Amino acid sequence: MKLIAIDLDGTLLNSQNEISDENKTAIKQAQKAGIEVVIATGRAHFDVQEIFKDTEISTWIIAANGATIHSPDGKLFSSVPIDKETALQAIAWLEEEGYYYEVFSNEAIYTPQKGRELLEIEMDRVKSANEDVDRATLEEAAAKQYSQSGFSFISSPKELEPASIDIFNILAFSFHQEKLNKGWEKFKGRDDLTLVTSAHHNFELEHSQASKGHALTRLASNFNIPLHETMAIGDSMNDFSMMAIAGKRVAMGNARPEIQHIADEITLRNDEHGVAEALKKIYAEKASAPF
Ligand code: CA
Repeated sequence: MKLIAIDLDGTLLNSQNEISDENKTAIKQAQKAGIEVVIATGRAHFDVQEIFKDTEISTWIIAANGATIHSPDGKLFSSVPIDKETALQAIAWLEEEGYYYEVFSNEAIYTPQKGRELLEIEMDRVKSANEDVDRATLEEAAAKQYSQSGFSFISSPKELEPASIDIFNILAFSFHQEKLNKGWEKFKGRDDLTLVTSAHHNFELEHSQASKGHALTRLASNFNIPLHETMAIGDSMNDFSMMAIAGKRVAMGNARPEIQHIADEITLRNDEHGVAEALKKIYAEKASAPF
C-alpha cells in the first residue's frame, strides 16, 4: 500500500473532534514507512490546518469533498470550483427556503448572520413536535458545525458575487428531515453538480467533477501510484466515491451500512482508534511480505 486516504469526521476524529494519540502515532509511523498519507474531508482546507496545528503531522489535504487539493506545505495544488452563476443560484434558493447554510470558498466559510438564529428556531420546533428528541443532541450537532475555523458572516448572498471568490462547496444543514428531503429533490440528478451528504443533518453541493474519488485519482496519478495500491478509510456517504476506486476499502465500525457494505474490511469505531487499527494491519502485511 503506497497511498492511504483518510476521512476526518467519524473516522480519524473521535467524538470529541480530536485526533487521539494512538491515531497520531499510527500516521507518523505510516509516513516514516514511506506511505503517502492523505486527509480527505468535506471540511474546508483552513479548518483542517487548524485541526492539525499542534500535531507535528503534515499531509496532502483533499478538502471541500474533493474540490480542493493542497500540498503538505499548504499550497493549492488544484481546485474545481462550482460555476459561479450555478453556485449563486443554489445559494439564492437555500436563502429563500430558510436554510442554515455554509459556503466554502478560497477566502472563508461564508454563512448568513441569521443562520444560527434559524437553527435555534428549528431546534425548538423539532423538540416541541417530538418529545423523544433530546435537545442536547441537537445542540451538540449545531455546536460541531459552529466549531469550524474560518467563518465570515454575511448579511446578503450578494457579498459572494465578487469574481475573486471561488466557491468550492455549499453545505445546507437542517434538523427537519422534510427540509433535507426537499433540498435533495431540488439538487439530485444534476449533471453540473455533485450532491452528497457527510452527516445526519446536511447535504452538500460541489462541481460535478469534484469528489473525494476524483481528487484521489488525481493525486495518485500525480505520484504515479496505481489505484490498486491505494487505500481509503471512511464512514459516510461522501466517502463512497473514494472507497469505490481505492484498491483497499476500509469502513469504520461506526460507518453507515452502505459504506460497510462496499468495504473489504471493517475496522474499529472512531472512538476506538479505528484508523490506527487499520494502519497496524498494513504494517503487519508489509512485514510478512516477501522481498
Ligand atoms: Ca466522515
